[in-house]
Amino acid sequence: MSLKGKTAIITGSTSGIGLGIAREMAKAGADVVLNSFSDRDEDHALAREIGEEHGVTARYIQADMSKADACRRLIEEAGACDILVNNAGIQHVAPIDEFPTEKWDAIIAINMTSAFHTTAAALPMMRKAGWGRVINIASAHGLRASPFKSAYVTAKHGVVGMTKVVGLETAKEPITCNAICPGYVLTPLVEGQIPDTAKEYGISEDEAVEKVILAKQPSKEFVTVGQLAGIAIFLCSDAASQITGTSIAADGGWTSQ
Ligand code: NAD
Repeated sequence: MSLKGKTAIITGSTSGIGLGIAREMAKAGADVVLNSFSDRDEDHALAREIGEEHGVTARYIQADMSKADACRRLIEEAGACDILVNNAGIQHVAPIDEFPTEKWDAIIAINMTSAFHTTAAALPMMRKAGWGRVINIASAHGLRASPFKSAYVTAKHGVVGMTKVVGLETAKEPITCNAICPGYVLTPLVEGQIPDTAKEYGISEDEAVEKVILAKQPSKEFVTVGQLAGIAIFLCSDAASQITGTSIAADGGWTSQ
């Protein structure tokens, strides 16, 4: 499938799932906009590398997804948005009575509210272009809960809800909005929570992976970034035109339990 002529904006795309999706969108011919909160030479170099590899226009736009105006500026500065992938996300693991307020606020802002601002700014562009795809990277934690992840589970359930609303509001237009709900993927975000999980449960890091993290995933395998990028590409295809307002779980069976 060719995405030539389309512009894809992927929030939080300097690493992990977002970067994988950006690479796959570029491979399919889309011009891509990479994003994160930093403004390092390597961020711009990464975009250049992707652009050169796939012969597309690839830009890096700095915008902190915890800030409403920055979320909207990202879309405006990109100038076009046919495919919006709301992917930026962070995690913090702690019991609710010890959960730092600033971590709660940051997770709600980055993992949930940013998608409201970017979607609101992107929809008029999609309407003007006569085609659009909003892809929200939610989580199995948008459908199920785990202890010690109050802010993350709240934000991801919110994203799943927002996905349904945007799907309904655009139902009569050639625009779809869907969420992908991955189980555990071995990215820096998950690598970072292994020590915290081990601490919370009072076990070793190996045990935290085996007994806590992959305990919920019946396949006992991590989901891969490539598999998620493939689902994002499928959601851009004609075959997916009537798939809207829904959540696609890619979680090795987790949410079937
Ligand atoms: P990651 O840590 O590898 O990547 C997160 C990206 O978001 C990075 O590029 C980071 O720079 C960016 N980011 C962080 N704060 C930002 C901010 N304030 N503004 C802009 N960008 C910011 O994480 P990942 O595992 O690739 O996660 C990507 C998304 O997938 C997240 O929404 C996460 O919740 C979701 N997810 C991950 C998993 C998993 O197991 N890794 C599972 C389900 C859902």
